[in-house]
Amino acid sequence: MTSSTELFERARQVLPGGVNSPVRAFRAVGGTPFFVARAAGCRLTDVDGRSYVDYVCAWGPLILGHAHPAVLEAIQVAAGRGWSYGAPCEAEVQLAELVRCRMPSLEMVRFVNSGTEATMSAVRVARAATKRELILKFAGGYHGHADGFLVQAGSGVATLGLPDSPGVPAAVAGLTLTVPFNDVAAVEDVFRRRGPELAAVIVEPYLGNVGFIAPEPEFHPTLRRLCDAHGTLLIFDEVMTGFRVAPGGAQERLGVRPDLTTLGKIVGGGLPVGAYGGRADLMRLVAPAGPVYQAGTLAGNPIAMAAGLATLRETARAGFYETLERRTARLVSGISDAARRHRVPASVGHAGSMWGVFLATGPIRNYAQAQAADVALFGRWHRAALARGVFLAPSAFEAAFVSSAHTDADIAFTLEHLDAALGDARAG
Ligand SMILES: *Cc1c(COP(=O)(O)O)cnc(C)c1O
Repeated sequence: MTSSTELFERARQVLPGGVNSPVRAFRAVGGTPFFVARAAGCRLTDVDGRSYVDYVCAWGPLILGHAHPAVLEAIQVAAGRGWSYGAPCEAEVQLAELVRCRMPSLEMVRFVNSGTEATMSAVRVARAATKRELILKFAGGYHGHADGFLVQAGSGVATLGLPDSPGVPAAVAGLTLTVPFNDVAAVEDVFRRRGPELAAVIVEPYLGNVGFIAPEPEFHPTLRRLCDAHGTLLIFDEVMTGFRVAPGGAQERLGVRPDLTTLGKIVGGGLPVGAYGGRADLMRLVAPAGPVYQAGTLAGNPIAMAAGLATLRETARAGFYETLERRTARLVSGISDAARRHRVPASVGHAGSMWGVFLATGPIRNYAQAQAADVALFGRWHRAALARGVFLAPSAFEAAFVSSAHTDADIAFTLEHLDAALGDARAG
């Protein structure tokens, strides 16, 4: 028995499924999770002393890799000044200013502690502003675990093939309408029938919680136009794409300006931070400026703000995003070549350093098509890759990430071992 399997046994006695977030349990790929002892750069080291090149990157936040020296120092300096004040501090203002500078559509920002809180709160603002109750989301879109979003959701819900969650009141779920991603005709149809009742459309601009799926060129401009025509607000859930697919997120890359945006992951540099923001007239509805209540004991935490600031400042270096994108392109095209050599159908894609591979014949435009992916083969590939020192997300339906700590040599190492692992997986 390894130390990881022992720890997992103990964990299962005290934590549901042995984990604090479902996909970490490795159920979809078989085997048991490794327990991390430490991490640095692009590598995780487990309690048994094995190390892995990490493409999960804490599920997105670690665009600089693990334990980046500048972020570590910022955290240490902040901690030395005390770690929670219950009163405002300058770092909150600095991070909000930096966010607005990178994403000008966020004229005002409110910090919270997770992506889930950000999306819940943004929808509350949208409902208050429009005095309407319905929201429209897309199948496979994941917006955190709040009641109203667990309708045809991605992430662990997709990975584990769960039905919409028990415990969500039908009356709440009934306020969420869902159509397929990239399906302009279906969106037009919803607006024709329910337009006057729709408070908001919430969308992951690039789907990242059912694997990586890019939007077609007309998709977001059409959402923008329909929202404008019907007095509906457009919410970009950029918890994953924000500061990832471009310096100014998906909204910069796509050239579409949402009314509200939700952030998480990179904005906290790996500490628990979320944020929502957008048009000043909408954000002024939030208490205490306005009547929409939303609060947080630990919101704007000084250590978390410091980690976010240090992370965003590092990403502002010249050529940062270009280098990441070039390495990611090399990785996904290498995976595509390997799949071809092994005669495995594969559809790869990326935007910036967010990437994914479906073991299915592409193109994959939506969640229904993604479900054609060979999950059993993916599970074998995952296990073989792990044995060779490469950590892919333990699910056929999650996006992956390259960080600035992944060097060209790390990418070459990865390609060599993913190629061999695909051979092992095909052999059974
Ligand atoms: C991760 C994620 C969330 C949820 O964020 P948490 O911090 O896990 O609550 C919401 N939306 C998207 C697009 C995400 O990727």
